Amino acid sequence: MTGQATGPAAGRITGRAAGRPVTGRGAGVPGSGIAAARAVAGTVTDPELPMLTLADLGVLREVREADGTVIVSVTPTYLGCPALGAMRDDLVAALHRAGFPRVEVRTVLAPAWSSDWITPDGRRKLAEAGIAPPGPAPRRGPGPVPLALGAKPTPVRCPRCGSAQTRLLSAFGATACRSLHRCGACQEPFEHVKEA
Ligand SMILES: [Zn+2]
Repeated sequence: MTGQATGPAAGRITGRAAGRPVTGRGAGVPGSGIAAARAVAGTVTDPELPMLTLADLGVLREVREADGTVIVSVTPTYLGCPALGAMRDDLVAALHRAGFPRVEVRTVLAPAWSSDWITPDGRRKLAEAGIAPPGPAPRRGPGPVPLALGAKPTPVRCPRCGSAQTRLLSAFGATACRSLHRCGACQEPFEHVKEA
C-alpha cells in the first residue's frame, strides 16, 4: 500500500480495543478479539464487485469495539448505492458466524468515498477480472471547477491487452458504477469502474 494517492485512512482499518473486550474467537488475550473481528470484516466482499473485499474497495473505514459491541464503519461507494443494505447484512452475518453476537454497522458519509481509495491490491484484482480500474478521480473541492475545454479525457486502457485504443459503448455497465467499453486492438468488450 504505497505510492497511491489515497484519502484519509484509505484501505486501512484502524481502531483500538477499548473498554470491555469483545467476546469471540481469540477473546481472552487483550486486543485479540477486536483483531479477529477486524480480520473477519476485512474478508467480506462487495456485493457489486465480488472480486473485491470491502477493504480493497476502501469502503471499510474502521472496526472498533465499544461495550462489547463490534462497531463497523463503512462509507458507501456511490450515493443511493443499492448495495449498502447487502453490504451491511453481509458484515453482520460474517461477524455473527465468527462468534461476535453484537454488531453495529455505521454509515460514514463524509468524507465521501473516492475511487482513489481502491487499494493497489483491489486494482490488481479488478484488472485480473477483466475490469479496467478507475484512473485518478476528478478533484473535488470548494473552489470553482477549472474548465479544461478541448482537453481529452484520459483513455481507458483495455485490461486484457493494455491498448488505449478503446471506445465507450455505454455509460452504464452491469451496475451504475461501471461503464462498458470495447477495445479497438483485441476487439474485446470490457467494463470499467468509473472514477468518482
Ligand atoms: Zn484489448
